[in-house]
Amino acid sequence: MKSMVVANWKMSPETMREAKALFEATRKAAESAKDVSVLVAPPAIFLRDLASAYKGRRIVFAAQNGHFEKNGAHTGEISMPQIKDAKASAIIIGHAERRAAGETNAETRAKISMALSQKLQPIFCVGEHNRSAGGEHFLYVKEQLKTGLQDVTPANLGKIVIAYEPVWAIGASEAMSPRQMHEMAIFIRKSLVGSHSEKAIKTKILYGGSIDETNARDMLEGGDVQGLLVGRASTDVSKFAALIKSIA
Ligand code: PEP
Repeated sequence: MKSMVVANWKMSPETMREAKALFEATRKAAESAKDVSVLVAPPAIFLRDLASAYKGRRIVFAAQNGHFEKNGAHTGEISMPQIKDAKASAIIIGHAERRAAGETNAETRAKISMALSQKLQPIFCVGEHNRSAGGEHFLYVKEQLKTGLQDVTPANLGKIVIAYEPVWAIGASEAMSPRQMHEMAIFIRKSLVGSHSEKAIKTKILYGGSIDETNARDMLEGGDVQGLLVGRASTDVSKFAALIKSIA
């Protein structure tokens, strides 16, 4: 199975010119690695230009966020039909930085429904803020999954990718260990089998949090994950190319 790498550019770069250059380097890296499927999530303001200019098929475009309502008076927001019209096919939902800005589990639930109705693939982010010896972090993730996926039918669950991103490892100096990820992947699949159906055992799980060219391969090999969500290293051209090469 192909590994999936989601490049979350967050609020970088500053200009369209830099975005084009970063995309061009990302495209080259993606095209040299046929076994890796690359999704690029640029800032929304660059999405349409980049996606319209791209004539290849190897890269899929994703939005970093979108509103849960189809339309309406929501100044400053972007709707999922608009995202679809800008030629994105996926959307990150519930990223830790959106949650830190106030996004609730109930909102992730509504966003997932809207994304599915617009035929955008949800990349649904979950993850605890910290860990405790008592294992409360498992319950925290379970609640995020339970509420966020409440309206998703067992048949639709296969359209969703779960991105497990422990908040303490995002933008940090170290990723979590593949062994810890493996344990969490088993927990996530088990929870989804309980809430949805046995088919959930095949749910695609990504890991995100301080992944770069030095640890990507180990995480894919030992973490029981089918891909990676990459922040900082996705906007550093040489790091991203080396990361893709390391897992190709
Ligand atoms: C992220 O923002 O989802 C992320 C994983 O960031 P970083 O790779 O920089 O830790």
